[in-house]
Amino acid sequence: MRYPYLLFDADNTLFDFDRAVRYAFDASCRAVGLQSSDELLRRYSAHNDACWLMFDRGEASKEFILIDRFRRFFAELGVDADPEAANRAHLETLAVCSFPTAHSVEVCRTLARTHRLFLITNAVASVQRGRLARAEIKPYLEAAFISEEAGAQKPTAAYFDYVFAHVDGITRENCLVVGDSLSSDIRGANNYGLACCWYNPKRLPNPEGLRVDYEITDLRALYDIV
Ligand SMILES: [Mg+2]
Repeated sequence: MRYPYLLFDADNTLFDFDRAVRYAFDASCRAVGLQSSDELLRRYSAHNDACWLMFDRGEASKEFILIDRFRRFFAELGVDADPEAANRAHLETLAVCSFPTAHSVEVCRTLARTHRLFLITNAVASVQRGRLARAEIKPYLEAAFISEEAGAQKPTAAYFDYVFAHVDGITRENCLVVGDSLSSDIRGANNYGLACCWYNPKRLPNPEGLRVDYEITDLRALYDIV
């Protein structure tokens, strides 16, 4: 066994976050009296992605970007809507949406027989705890390390220091980071000297040339890696 300790990202790795976001976005629109549409979701998502990238780079706090993504979106639309109300509805809906990604339940169930599985996530703690409590994969995960509770976030070394301090027996050599995000998961593994597996079902490019030890488009490919 090459990697007895597996550190899984949550959103868009084990949980189908894109699908959950569609539900949550509809709730946000309802909360402020907007008519939801695919076009509006696309425009909101651009602001959301830009805001989370600021957070991943340590340029803004989570509290700030959660509201600011809706502030920017409403400003672009030119509508006078309350970004805090929209965000509140968004987070409440996300917390009850625990749709798994393709094969994630099967893969966690199988790997948990031989490996120790942990969740490493930058998500909002209340959302992630709510989702996890309802998730089919919950029994297969030994612990979930949520950035808000850790006091640091991926990709910083401080975040991984926190994880390593809470997992007995883990070393830089015996664990594998599995995640979909270059800016948080893969960069985090690069920074901390950990092996990493990029779950890249959309076959995105790696423009910054980060070290990617394994790249997969199907989680079941992990069976041959770990
Ligand atoms: Mg992710």
